[in-house]
Amino acid sequence: MAATNLSQHLNPVDQYQRPLRDLRISVTDRCNFRCPYCMPAEVYGERYKFLPRAEILTFEEITRFTRLFTSLGVSKIRLTGGEPLIRADLSQLIGMLSAIPEVEDLTLTTNGYLLEKFADQLVDAGLRRITVSLDSLDEDVYKEMNGRNFGTENVLKGIAAAEKAGLSPIKINAVVEKGVNDHTLVDLAKHFKGSGHILRFIEFMDVGNLNGWNMDKVVPAKDIISAISAELPLEPVDPNYLGEVARRWRYADGEGEIGVITSVTEPFCGDCTRARLSTDGKLVTCLFAEDGTDLRGPMRSGASDEELLDLISGTWRGRDDQYSVERTAMLKSGIERPAKKIEMYQIGG
Ligand code: SF4
Repeated sequence: MAATNLSQHLNPVDQYQRPLRDLRISVTDRCNFRCPYCMPAEVYGERYKFLPRAEILTFEEITRFTRLFTSLGVSKIRLTGGEPLIRADLSQLIGMLSAIPEVEDLTLTTNGYLLEKFADQLVDAGLRRITVSLDSLDEDVYKEMNGRNFGTENVLKGIAAAEKAGLSPIKINAVVEKGVNDHTLVDLAKHFKGSGHILRFIEFMDVGNLNGWNMDKVVPAKDIISAISAELPLEPVDPNYLGEVARRWRYADGEGEIGVITSVTEPFCGDCTRARLSTDGKLVTCLFAEDGTDLRGPMRSGASDEELLDLISGTWRGRDDQYSVERTAMLKSGIERPAKKIEMYQIGG
């Protein structure tokens, strides 16, 4: 990186004094699933036009952005999508990112369907841990929730291959939607209890604009915990670090832990240190943002590192996002929520 006056940019904090620590990078807007809460098939059909290749960040651009963000204080990188494993030669990018000394934690979120095929090469390239989405072990429920009628077999084989390849910890994410999969959560917990994998339940959120969200479809985290604890007693555990997304609970018998992501009923915006880089190179400062700051344009127009650092740190300093906190107030007062938000598959969950 050319000699730049880094000191003036180092460790920017936003309007709520939150530092910039995590960067989620969407490496593709495409996915092999059609989960109704993210990319409903009736909207994203066979003819849907996703971003043309020329508009998607190249590996070199992603790597340069990562260098810039890490020079500002970012240490954790999460690769997302869409489905990151469908981006060709993804291991090449993982190799480029894991070579950046400031990247202390490099992880990836996948639906796991292709994981068995790629697990070894991901590890060889430098990936150390992974998160797999698996909303249910009930075949019919799972087929409904991935919108493609895919069974659980490939994903379970993918998790086993990831474990064999040495990825650890392996986290399993399950979005909980009332009346859809909430009756299958205890089975999911029983399956992964004692496995060493960390199962996390995510309160159904109003991400994007297409998932028909309302509060009646939300199972509060406290109800998820009490449902599981009724059969598998749990006790609360302190967070690992500031800004940890999941609330931690461990099995009283010592057979591992689970987590709950409580964006709706217990917002955690207060220590949110996450930025997102969209597939087409926008800096997005909240999962529920309506838009982002274009970084790809200036980079492709020849902006220097200094100019890009100005843009990134300036955007972060101006950040005042706390949507989940505001959502609670909006719901209470009946104020309309933002009409148009960026779709989750363009910025990663
Ligand atoms: S709602 Fe936005 S600000 Fe709040 S925790 Fe989520 S991403 Fe962070």
